[in-house]
Amino acid sequence: MTAPNISPTVDLGKFNSVVFADRLINWYVANRRPMRWHGADAYSVWVSEIMLQQTQAATVTEYYDRFMHSFPTVHALAAASQEVVLAHWSGLGYYARARNLHEAAKIVVARHGGNVPNSLNELLNLPGIGRYTAGAILSIAYNQPVPLVDANVARVISRLFTLNELPTSREGNKNLWAITSHLVPLQHPGLFNQGLMELGATVCTPTAPDCNKCPVTSLCGAHATVDPSQWPTKTARKKFVQQIHCSVVVRQPDGGVYLVRRPSRGRWGGLWEFPRVECKQDETPCEAAERAARQLLNVPITDVTMVTAVKHTVTHHNITLYCCTAQALEVPVTGEGIHLVSVESLPDYPLAAPQVLLRNQILCPAKFEIQQALTL
Ligand code: SF4
Repeated sequence: MTAPNISPTVDLGKFNSVVFADRLINWYVANRRPMRWHGADAYSVWVSEIMLQQTQAATVTEYYDRFMHSFPTVHALAAASQEVVLAHWSGLGYYARARNLHEAAKIVVARHGGNVPNSLNELLNLPGIGRYTAGAILSIAYNQPVPLVDANVARVISRLFTLNELPTSREGNKNLWAITSHLVPLQHPGLFNQGLMELGATVCTPTAPDCNKCPVTSLCGAHATVDPSQWPTKTARKKFVQQIHCSVVVRQPDGGVYLVRRPSRGRWGGLWEFPRVECKQDETPCEAAERAARQLLNVPITDVTMVTAVKHTVTHHNITLYCCTAQALEVPVTGEGIHLVSVESLPDYPLAAPQVLLRNQILCPAKFEIQQALTL
C-alpha cells in the first residue's frame, strides 16, 4: 500500500513555507498544552493517536495512563487477552480501535520483533493504522517529514489557502494531503504536524477563529476576508436515525446478574452487556425486556419493572436505552456467551459506556460515580 503522490491545486510557489513552518513551530513550542504522550516513543504515540481518534484529549488522559500502566510495551499488549484489552477500553467507545490495536501489536511482535515499523508501507499494512496515524508515528516518533491530515489540519489548511472543495470529498481530501506533503519541513516535522493540529484545536477553531492570537495571520488567505470561518466549505448535516432499545437486568436470588457477550465484530463487538434488544414498534420496554430474556438467555422472566433510561449516540444513531429489572423463572444455561456475574465482579467485564451507566445506576450506585446526567 503506497501513499499517492499528487500535486496540490494551489500554487505553493508563492507561499513562503519556510517562514510558515518557523512561525508555527515556535508558536507550538511556546503554547502547547502539556500531554502525557509528548516526546514519547513510537508505541506511546501509536496508542495515544488511536485513543485520540473520536475522543477529546481530556478524556483520553485517564485511559491512556491506565492502558500504558498495564501494557507498557508492544510485547505486553500482544500477550494480553482481548477481554482484558477491551476492559481497559471500556467507556472510551469505538471498540474496533482497541481490537485493531491489539491485533496490530501481535503482528508487530511476530513480524517486527516488537519494534513499531518506521516505514509508511509497513505501518499502513497494520490493522487500524491509516495515513493519519502513520504520519503521526513517523513524524513525531521517527522524525520523518511525513504529513498528516485530521479535521483540525483540514480546517487550518482550507483557511490558509481558501480552498473551495469539501475537505471530506475525494478531491478535497487528496488536495489537503498534497498541500501538507509540500509544507511538512525536513527539520522538526513532528513539531510542525503537532503545531498544525494544536493551532486548529485552540486558535483556528470551527466557528470563531481567534486570528489575533494566530502566528501565521500574514500568510493566511481567509484572514484577509470578512469571515474566515466560512472555510472549510461546509458539508450537509448527517441525518440521525432514532432507535429505542431495552436491556434487562435479570437477577438471581443470590444477587448475581446475567451478562451476554456480543458478536466479536460490529458495534460493541466482543463487549458484554445486560441482554438487549431493539424495541419493535408498539412494544413496551417491559415487553421488549421479556423478549430479550427469551431470545438471549432462553428463559421466561417475572417481576419485570422499568427502572431507568439513558440516551446516547453511536455514529448516526440516537438511541434511547430503557432498562428493566426482572427475576428469572428458570435458570439460564451459562457458557461462553452467557455469564452469571456477582455485582462485585461486574467491573472486570468490558461494557460499552451506556451499559456502564446502567450498571452504576442500578447495581452499584454507592461504588461508582454516575458519569453524566441522565434524562429522558
Ligand atoms: S489567521 Fe485566522 S483563519 Fe487564518 S489560520 Fe490563523 S486563526 Fe485560522
